[in-house]
Amino acid sequence: MPYNPFENAQAQFDKVAELLELDQGTRDLLRVPMKEFHFTIPVKMDDGTTRVFQAFRIKHNDARGPAKGGIRFHPHETSDTVRALSMWMTWKCAVVDIPLGGGKGGVICDPHELSQGEQQRLCRGYIRQLFSQVGPTIDVPAPDVMTNGQHMLWMMDEYEALAGGRYPGMITGKPVGMGGSLGRTEATGYGVIYTLGDLLRAEGIDIKATTASIQGFGNVAEYAARLYSELGGRVVCVSCWCQADKKAYTFRKKDGCDIEALSQIKDSFGSIDKDRALSLGYEILPGDAWLSEDVDILIPAALENQITPAVFPNISQRVRVICEGANGPTTPDCDPLIRERGISLIPDFLCNAGGVTCSYFEQVQCNMNYFWSREEVLDKLNFTMAKAFRAVYELAKEKDLNMRDAAYVIAINRVADAVRLRGWV
Ligand code: GLU
Repeated sequence: MPYNPFENAQAQFDKVAELLELDQGTRDLLRVPMKEFHFTIPVKMDDGTTRVFQAFRIKHNDARGPAKGGIRFHPHETSDTVRALSMWMTWKCAVVDIPLGGGKGGVICDPHELSQGEQQRLCRGYIRQLFSQVGPTIDVPAPDVMTNGQHMLWMMDEYEALAGGRYPGMITGKPVGMGGSLGRTEATGYGVIYTLGDLLRAEGIDIKATTASIQGFGNVAEYAARLYSELGGRVVCVSCWCQADKKAYTFRKKDGCDIEALSQIKDSFGSIDKDRALSLGYEILPGDAWLSEDVDILIPAALENQITPAVFPNISQRVRVICEGANGPTTPDCDPLIRERGISLIPDFLCNAGGVTCSYFEQVQCNMNYFWSREEVLDKLNFTMAKAFRAVYELAKEKDLNMRDAAYVIAINRVADAVRLRGWV
C-alpha cells in the first residue's frame, strides 16, 4: 500500500491530540484544512496549443496569522500531499513561534518540460485564479520543490497588476533587490544544519568527526551540504535525480563530496548531470544507496515517504542522527523503530523551519521597506531556530518523548490556544 502523506499527518496529529487530551472540537478543526482551492490553469504553449494544468492551494489554519507556505511544481503532486504539507506548515510556524498559519500550493507539472515563457504564463495563471484568496494578510506563498525566486516574482507581478499597487509582502523567496531577503536562498538548508549543530552540541558530539549521507540536491539539500561541510563534516554521498535518465542515482566520494563542484553540474531544479559527475570521479550507485551508507548522519532532503519500515533495516548501525530536511520523509510507522535503535531524529517541521522563518523576516523587511545585512538575517535565524530546538529537546527529555512528538506538543498547544482565544472552539 503506498503511503498517503495526509493520513500520515493526521496519524501524527491524532497521537499527540490524544496525549494532550485535546477536546473534540479542536481535534475536528485541526485535523483537516479549513479551506481548499482546486482549480485549472489554461496555459498557451509556445507551439500555439493550450495545455490545462491542475492546481491546488490549501489553507490548513490561519488562527495565528495569515497562512504561509510554498507552491510546488511536481508531476506527481496530489491534493492529499498538499493537504498534508499545509498542515505541517501550521505546526512549522507554530513551533518556531512566528505569527503565521499554514498553507501550501501545488501544480501538477514537470517544469523541466516547460520553456521560460510557459513557466511564466503558468505562474501568472496561478495567481489569476487565486487572486482574491492570496495576499499579505490572507495567504502568502513561497518557493518549494521545483519553484524558485523567478517564479515568485512573476506571481508577485501578476498580483500587483491585478491589485493596482505594490504588495511585496504577498509572496516570499523573491530575488534579492526585488523585495527578497539576503539569506533566504540558503535559509532552509542552513536551518537544518543549525538544528543539527545544536543537537550534536547537546549530545557532546564534534561535528568535525561526523559523516553524512544526503538525499536530494535541490535548494535545501545543497545549502545544508554546504554549511555542514564548512563546519568540518564530511558529506560522503548525495542522492539525486538525473533528468537525462529520468531516475535517481547516488553520487559517492568516500573522502568527501565537493559541494561547490556538484552545484556547478546541477540544473536549476536540482538534477545532477551523471556524465559530468563520473568525470569528476564520483561513484554512481542506485538512487536508494544513500540510505544504507555507513555514516553518522542521514539527511533526507528530497520528498516524502522515503524512510519506511520496509527500508529501515538497510540503515547502517552507525547512524546516530536523522535530520529531516524534507517535509514528511519518514512514515509514522517507522518512528518507533528509529527510537528503539536510539537514533535521534530532528523532525521536519522543526528541522526545515529555517525557510519559513526567513520568509517571515522577508515580510517584515518588505513592510519596513528597509533590508537587513545577510549577517543580521542569519543571526536572527540562528537565534530563532536555537530557541525552538532547545524547547523541543528539553521537553522531549523531560517527558520521555521523541523529538517529533515533543515538537507537536509545543506546536499544537500554541495553535489550540489561538483557536480557543479567537472563540472558534
Ligand atoms: N516551502 C518552504 C517550507 O516548506 C518555505 C515556506 C515559506 O517560506 O513560506 O517550509
